[in-house]
Amino acid sequence: LQRRLRQSDRLESLGQLAAGVAHDFNNLLGIINGYASMAAADLAPLAAADPALRTLHADLTEIVAAGDRATALTRQLLSFARADPAPETRTLDLNTVIADLDTLLRRALGEDVTLVMQLAPRPWPIRADPGRLEQVLINLAVNARDAMPGGGTLTIETAPVTVDEHYTAQHPGVHTGRYMRLRVSDTGTGMSKETLERAFEPFFTTKPKGHGTGLGLATIYGIITQAGGHTQIYSEPGHGTTITALLPATGEDAEPDTTPAAQHRPGTG
Ligand code: ADP
Repeated sequence: LQRRLRQSDRLESLGQLAAGVAHDFNNLLGIINGYASMAAADLAPLAAADPALRTLHADLTEIVAAGDRATALTRQLLSFARADPAPETRTLDLNTVIADLDTLLRRALGEDVTLVMQLAPRPWPIRADPGRLEQVLINLAVNARDAMPGGGTLTIETAPVTVDEHYTAQHPGVHTGRYMRLRVSDTGTGMSKETLERAFEPFFTTKPKGHGTGLGLATIYGIITQAGGHTQIYSEPGHGTTITALLPATGEDAEPDTTPAAQHRPGTG
């Protein structure tokens, strides 16, 4: 418990620091990116006709691309720090959020990674911010892609599950109740014991400079916790990684799924 408290203290102070810097920085970036794209667009027809201007156009294009990466990074910092507007919580179908992201996920994974979807036939509705759930899925896909440089398989699975006392006894911190379980597994490198212990820590990354922010999993943890859910990592070096998120099912209109296969499967974590 003490470790968990320390982790949340650290999340909060780092978050406040990050939010202040990211917010001002983002405004300046907007100006830089805006002028650079305008200049690149204006120069495009001239560069096509004049080889001397071609290098200049290529340089501007690089600036725009780097600006876009910087914008993505500050956006990640802001959402991590929760300086974003309050979450827009809605009753929604997790499967639909995933299905809508299909094209984007496939593009993010590249050609060497096979995407397998095993979506529950009768999902329970959940309450969450769809935009933030999309961010969870994209962060998970990007991490999985990075862990499978030689290709592999990413499996996205959803299932309605009921968490009972037996399960909570083995998983302290998880509350009993009905959840939609999101499980994302890859066949990548897996994590060492040291990485696994620190994976949720903000700014912890094993990636080379410029490639990782160390905010992907910390953001996921924040989003799922804010939605009243739980996040777990199961990973073995050489055998891949499975990240499981339990998202509370809504009370009223959720009707229990009686299919035994879709029911309780306590192998989480
Ligand atoms: P980043 O991806 O920017 O490094 P994250 O918080 O998303 O930040 O991840 C932290 C670290 O956890 C990564 O640097 C990597 O070592 C490890 N990690 C995350 N996801 C995976 C995965 N699917 N497979 C193996 N290692 C992973």
